[in-house]
Formats: sequence, C-alpha cells, structure tokens
Amino acid sequence: MAADPTPAARARPATNTGTTGQTAWADLDHTRVRLRDIAPILSIHAMCLGVIWVGWSWVAVAVAVALYFIRMFVITAFYHRYFSHRTFRTHRAVQFAFALLGTTSAQRGPCWWAGHHREHHRHSDEEPDLHSPWWKGVLWSHTVWFLTEKGRATNWRAIPDWQKYPELVWLERNHLIGPALLITAMAILGWTLGVWAPGLGTNGWQMVVWGFAISTSVLYHGTFTINSLAHTIGSQRFKTGDDSRNNWWLALITLGEGWHNNHHEYPGTVRQGFYWWEFDPAYWILKVMSWFGLVWDLRPVPASVYERAEHAKAERAAGVGRQRQRSRGAA
Ligand SMILES: [Zn+2]
Ligand SMILES: [Zn+2]
Repeated sequence: MAADPTPAARARPATNTGTTGQTAWADLDHTRVRLRDIAPILSIHAMCLGVIWVGWSWVAVAVAVALYFIRMFVITAFYHRYFSHRTFRTHRAVQFAFALLGTTSAQRGPCWWAGHHREHHRHSDEEPDLHSPWWKGVLWSHTVWFLTEKGRATNWRAIPDWQKYPELVWLERNHLIGPALLITAMAILGWTLGVWAPGLGTNGWQMVVWGFAISTSVLYHGTFTINSLAHTIGSQRFKTGDDSRNNWWLALITLGEGWHNNHHEYPGTVRQGFYWWEFDPAYWILKVMSWFGLVWDLRPVPASVYERAEHAKAERAAGVGRQRQRSRGAA
C-alpha cells in the first residue's frame, strides 16, 4: 500500500505530547532547561568515555563509521526530505521501516522531527524559530533548544498528515525502542564476533561503545550543524530573507544537507544540491532507490528556481564588475 502524500484534513485535533500532555503549544516554555531533560543526551555522550576501558578495534571503528553514514542518510532523506517536506512518495511499509531506523539515531521519531522542522521553515530566523542561531546564539541553536520544554514536545499541530498513521504515532510514543534495539544489536554483534572471530579483537561492550555511543554522539553533532552552522557560515546564492547558507563541507558530513540556502529557497524539491557538482549523495541514493520502485515521484527543482539562480549569479557578477571599476577609478 502506498503512503498518501496529501495532507490529511481529517486528522485528529492538535494536541501536544512530550513532557506536558495536552498543554497548548503556545503555552510551552521555550527557554527553561531542566537537568532531568538533559540526562539522556549527556548519558550517551558519557558512554563514549567507556572507550578508556573497552579500547578499540578496526571492526568496531568501521561499524561506528558505517552506522553514522547509514543513519545520516535516514535522517537526511527520510526525517527531513520525506517526513518534513514530502518531496517524494514511498510505500507505507518503507515509510515505517525508515521511521524505525531513524529512531536508532536517538533523535526521537519522525513526527517530533518534522513538527519542529516545519515550524523552522515557517519562521526562519525570526523569534518563534526555536533554533535560530541569531536568537540565542550558536550553542543554543546547536543543542540547547531541544532540551527545553517546548523543544522536547511533539508539535502535532504541524503534522496533521502523519497523525493518520497509527504505526507512526505509536513509534513516536515509543521512540526509545530504536536506541534499545541498536544497543542490543551491537552487544550481540560484538559478542558473536568475540566468540567466532577472536582475531578481530572486539567484544560486546566495545561494539556498544563504538557502534552506539560514539557513532550516535557524532551523528548528533553532524545533524545539529545544519541548525547552527548552516545558518552562520557559508554563502547565499538566493536572497531568502533568512540566514541560511550554502556550505560544501557541511554537505560532506551530512550527505548533502549543507546546501541549506538552496533548501530554504525551495524546500519542495528532493534535491538540496541543485547542480551536479553540489555534493548531494542523499539525493543520489534516493534516485537509485527509485529505480527499484522503493520510492517514486521525486520532486525536481523547477525551471523557475534555476532562472532565479542564474539571475542571482548575473547580479553578483555585475556587482563585482562595478566594484572593480570603482577601485580602478579611485587608484
Ligand atoms: Zn534552516
Ligand atoms: Zn527543511
């Protein structure tokens, strides 16, 4: 069965879950951070210190790197481009499979992620934008915002289209199943390799520290750079009226999300790199998946957006020309 891409007008009334039950979205505190809310993310970071006792092995490092990139793809292609922006279509089973895979990133479920992200596009770099670096600084936009009461809550109001899928609502309320599954899988993998391939020098504890704790912590910060650095460092091809930037090295570590100014100009396309030379492997992988019928209706960049890009390029070139003329005149 294919997942319906049209927003559901018949969705349930807006309610918010998280720490506050049915509290109205506007009434949630968006500044206060409580120690108990920081505990889970701090614990995952603290688990990385386990490396002092478990050491390392090539296989554990390789698993950590592979899990970073696999989950970055899931966050980028599905949590962002699919659940937040609906830039392609897929089967309902594939939709759930990638939602479940996404929860292993310990970034909650797709409903939480998409609800906040849609709000970000609605109010980019204006005060209601919970993670604008220009509001409370880069560190806030990078990490602190989602530890507040409002940041932790799921903005159901913004995602009526996903509320009609009971499996997604269930996953949202049981999102800890993802990290629990990954920890269990890593323990079993490490233990199995320790018994059957002792030459690899790994064990259950080592695999949990590398495959879950270190990989997930690095993945957190890779993802967070798009809220913090992609609104701070880089160039602006389009005058989007916000602080979004295009940044090639952020595209490298996020599998294509670094073309954030492109994305703010036209969030409705599956591509974030608008040209072949703009590194966007998340799009390339989705393209390959479309050949096998796993996803379809990948929304392209409209011709009008390319025209605006050409226009902006010509304007910049004219601006540089005028500047050179002025400096020659002054000399
Ligand atoms: Zn943004
Ligand atoms: Zn977006």
